[in-house]
Formats: sequence, C-alpha cells, structure tokens
Amino acid sequence: MSVKADSKKEKTDRCCDGPCDLDVAKIRADFPILSRQVNGKRLIYLDSAATTQKPESVIRAITEYYSLHNANVHRGIHTLADEATTAYENTRHKIAAFINSDYEEIVYTRNATEALNTIAFSYGRAHLKPGDRIVITQMEHHANLVPWIMLSKETGAELAYIPITDDGYLDLSHIGEIINSKTKIVSLTHMSNVLGTINPVEEIAELAHKAGAVIVLDAAQSVPHLAVDVKALNIDFMAFSAHKMLGPTGLGILYGRRELLNDLQPFEFGGEMIRKVTFDDVTWNDLPYKFEAGTPHIAGAYAFGPAIDYLNELGMDNIRAHEIELTRYTLNRLAELDFIKVYGPTDPNHRGGAVTFNDVNIHPHDLATFLDTQGIAVRAGHHCAQPLHRLLGTVATTRASFYMYNTKSEVDLLTEALKESRRYFGYV
Ligand code: PMP
Repeated sequence: MSVKADSKKEKTDRCCDGPCDLDVAKIRADFPILSRQVNGKRLIYLDSAATTQKPESVIRAITEYYSLHNANVHRGIHTLADEATTAYENTRHKIAAFINSDYEEIVYTRNATEALNTIAFSYGRAHLKPGDRIVITQMEHHANLVPWIMLSKETGAELAYIPITDDGYLDLSHIGEIINSKTKIVSLTHMSNVLGTINPVEEIAELAHKAGAVIVLDAAQSVPHLAVDVKALNIDFMAFSAHKMLGPTGLGILYGRRELLNDLQPFEFGGEMIRKVTFDDVTWNDLPYKFEAGTPHIAGAYAFGPAIDYLNELGMDNIRAHEIELTRYTLNRLAELDFIKVYGPTDPNHRGGAVTFNDVNIHPHDLATFLDTQGIAVRAGHHCAQPLHRLLGTVATTRASFYMYNTKSEVDLLTEALKESRRYFGYV
C-alpha cells in the first residue's frame, strides 16, 4: 500500500491545494464503502466524528483472525492461542508507540466511554473526599461529563467548569481560581466533537499539576486526527476509541501513567486480571492486565493493528494538514450561505474537522434527512453534549465531520445540497 501522493503528479490529483501530501483518490480506493450508492447517489460520508469508515486491510484482518487464528488469549498453550496472544499484544505495542507511551500503560477497554468511567471510578473513587474539586469544561461530551457528575454525587467532591467564550474557545481568564488547591482531578476534551476546538492541554496540565491534581484527556476526537504525544502533553490519563480511527467498534484505549496505574485498584473483577486467588483473598495481575477482566475483544485488537499501520503510513501530520485545508474550505463555503450559522472557532489551525452548523429555519433532523436523500451522511442532534447545546442556545445542530478520505468536491456538493434544501422546504 502506498497512499502518499506521487510528487510528480499534477496537484489537481491531490485532495486539496493545501500543503498536505496525500493522494486522496488512492486512499478512497482502499475504503470499499465509499464506492457504494445511497438513495441513488454516490455516498458522501461526512460523519467520521461519530465513527470512521474502515480500509480494506482492517476489514480483511477481521476475517483473517476468525478464519486462521481464533483462540482465547493468554491462557492457552496451543499454537492458535499463542498466535492470537502475539497479535493482540503486538497491537498494544503499536498503540503505545503511536502515542509515545510505554506498553504497560495501555489498557484495552470497550471504548473511550469505558476508559473514562474506569478513570473516574478507579482513580476518582479512591482519591476524592467531600470538599475536593473536580474540574471539567463546558464543552464535554457526555462520556466525560456524566461519570464526573455521578462521582461528585457519590464522593461529595464539587464539580467546577471551565467556561467557554462566545467564539468557542475555553475561557481561561479565571483559570487560576477554577483550578484551585482543592482540585484533585482536571478532565477535558482535547478536541471538541461539537465546536471542533483544540484545547491548550499543555497549559492546563501545568496548572493542574501545580495544584497537585491529575489531568485526564478525552482524546476520542484528537488521537485519530493529529499526532498526540502523552509525554509532550504531560498528561496522566487519556481515553480514545479504535472505531474513530479506522479500527473496529468495541475497542477502546485507556492510557495511564505507570505509577498511577500501579497504585490503582481495578474497577472490574474476574478472570485474567488476577495473579493469585484463594477462597478468601486475591492479588492483582501485572500492568496492564489487572485492568482487563474477562475475555477481551481479540478480533478488534487484531484488526486495530492494520488501522494504526494505515495511519502511520499516511503520517499524522499529513492527515492533520489535509483536514485543516478541508476545514478552511468548508468554513469559507458555508460563510457564503447567509442562512447557515456555524459554531466554533473560525481559525482552522485551532480546530479539527468537525464543523457544526444550523440552518436558521430548518430543523437539523429535517436537514439531515434531506441531505441523506442526496447521499450525504451528516449527523444531527445534540451530539452527546446537551449542556453545551443549551449554552449555544439550541437543542440540536447539524455536523459535517471529515477524515483523510474526504475531498473539497464533497464539500461543494454539501454546499449545493444546503442551497437545494431551502428550495425543498419552501424558503426560496
Ligand atoms: N468523547 C468525545 C469527544 C467523543 O466525540 C466521543 C464519541 N462521540 C466519546 C468521547 C465517546 O466515544 P465512544 O462512544 O467510542 O465511547
């Protein structure tokens, strides 16, 4: 597989006229679903923030695993069990390298949500008491909001929020008072799934550590789209999902600094996560296995390996550059439409490729249904961020979100379809 652009080719062969170095036509050929028709039209998939499409290599790996290597991991001594275990652990090594962590610091979960719940209910429950403080932001996905609400009710720790500005950034003007000496946990999204905002994690990590708190990063929208280095960001815990980065559903990742994971009591109990069990007592397995109770998603881990290979082959900086260019183009095209209100930062360098908007007259669900008739898949609703939508003064929005396989011509078709929707719903 070679999906980098051929430098001798005409620029027009490429995804965009920006600085990215990807051959998007070649990339698209790796994703079988992108050549299907929806409602008689070629599929335009603009919902990668919800889940991404999968390249052939990942789809093939699922079949390959069940056809050739299917066995349970860690507890077998036969050849198949050995092959399954090796592949399962190899992917863990790839994930660790991908985010610059150590292998023992990578725990498999079901998804980002389960990783965040594990942090809240393993670390949080053990470290919080009444009067302590948990700090999150007003732009969190419910996955990084509901666990902290529940934990605060359970422990008596108060929940404080970093507010947002009108233009969709975190408002850090009172951050020194919000992250105070009572703060034990700061948890925030790296990239908002609604506003697209990329948050200044290093700066907030420094403040959290100065206050004696740990910092948790919800990286569900960032790890798939830009190079994330947990050491450079200086974070303590992180959560993300394989399905948002070309991999299969049902597999998530919890990263935790080794010292913290070592001290932590597991959240789920059963097979695999123990070293020794008597009728009265139990000792935990080594890291990372003490957090992986029961039979894991082995096929998922097997197929996540080629997903990471694919991202590495393209280069995360190229993916980011492509998305910046596409986002810039989308914001410019949508700005031509006076009936469309766009949410979030206007500078594509400070945001990711999830572009959320509303027609001033048409309900997002109606708009998304109309776009679907045109073969265009976007998401409509509150995107699991109800409190944020309340702040934005709306109950729902429409979101177009991109990945390396999207093109400017798809954005043009979206723009035309938005104009057409006005005619369809009788506004022009
Ligand atoms: N955080 C953010 C910012 C997200 O966008 C999502 C997925 N929409 C999640 C967490 C949860 O991911 P998952 O559903 O894979 O657990």
